[in-house]
Amino acid sequence: MKISHLGAKDCVTGSCHLVETEPGSSDSVNILVDCGTAAGDDPVLPFDQFPVPPDKIDYLFLTHAHIDHIGRVPELIDAGFRGEIICTHATKALLLPMLRDAMSFSARTDKDIQRLETLLDELSWGFELSETFTLKKGITFKLSNAGHILGSCFILITFPDANAKDYRVIFSGDLGCTDTPILPDPDLPESCDLLILESTYGDRLHPSRKGRTEALQKLLQKALADKGIVYFPAFALGRTQELLYELDRIGLNVPVFVDSPLGLEITKIYSSLEEFWDKEAKNLKATGNHPFDFKGLYAVQKYQDHQKLLDINGPAIIIAGSGMCTGGRIVDHLKHGLEDPRNDIFFVGYQAKGTPGRKMIEKKIPVKAGIHTLTAYSAHADQQMLVDWVHAMPEPPKEIRLVHGEDKARQALAMALNRIGGAGLNT
Ligand SMILES: [Zn+2]
Repeated sequence: MKISHLGAKDCVTGSCHLVETEPGSSDSVNILVDCGTAAGDDPVLPFDQFPVPPDKIDYLFLTHAHIDHIGRVPELIDAGFRGEIICTHATKALLLPMLRDAMSFSARTDKDIQRLETLLDELSWGFELSETFTLKKGITFKLSNAGHILGSCFILITFPDANAKDYRVIFSGDLGCTDTPILPDPDLPESCDLLILESTYGDRLHPSRKGRTEALQKLLQKALADKGIVYFPAFALGRTQELLYELDRIGLNVPVFVDSPLGLEITKIYSSLEEFWDKEAKNLKATGNHPFDFKGLYAVQKYQDHQKLLDINGPAIIIAGSGMCTGGRIVDHLKHGLEDPRNDIFFVGYQAKGTPGRKMIEKKIPVKAGIHTLTAYSAHADQQMLVDWVHAMPEPPKEIRLVHGEDKARQALAMALNRIGGAGLNT
């Protein structure tokens, strides 16, 4: 068996991993895990350089519906892929709106987008969490909750061997933090032979979650006191809903605008999939308090309304995509708002190298507005959480490969994992 890391091997975006059960043989079962778009300076491998042509890939697992894990699926289909797409029910619900939006920014015609949507719908299947299912040649898989965004999972794939013990591989996908708003904490992993582990924040410890909401409240009150505007560049999927949840808890008396048609559509899907929420969110809803809808929250759907919003006077909070300021409505807002010292930008997610968000934080783009980064709101587990998660396995894995992290993060996580010992580390 061979496992190749075709994307996000030593960076954070463009996730793509390939399993070949019998490399070079026509009998090989070929499994791809994620097929995402790269951001900033991160590389992607062209499909014609894949070790296996797309039409020979039997299964495509999707760990979750963020674009850096699913964004290249339409191109993979264009390149001949017709295998089964396997994901959770919630990921299946999020897949089409996310890819429809991504494709609308490409050169594709409406007819072509419709054709791909139909194919995506036909090829993709939602599966239950925590149940075992069988694929070709006795290979089995189980999806478990990863607590990163709605529907996110980590995947255990078991490969039978007639002469030896089964070989078990876990792909962590993106692992969430404990105490993420709306979502239950990640499930604990079973034992495996090989663990492919993400390491986005392998070199960081997030500030304590206790008091996180109060800290955000204080920062916001300070930023809004001069009647400025607070901008949250935010991913439409996950981050936008988490922010709404926190702003609902804080209850500031200022208007909050979600200026993102995709963010609004995804928020509706989050709302409708209550069975995936954590207890806290479910309890709020049961008492008649929707956990991420409140008075003073405005949906900005139409482009004309977006244009009107550019001239609004503060105090106000505007949530708009994209999360790394690489495009979308946030770019228009920042063009207007960066030169006003009363305004503030709050970054609440990972910013890839070379993206405008990262450049702003590194002060390579000088601005008059205040810049804040909120690491307590990361959607990724920090070093301690990753170590604890690996440590929770009944037996340590025989091998761990660290992916999905910059060099510094992978090296720091490798050192921390070495301290607990027991696993062959391959970074
Ligand atoms: Zn993600």
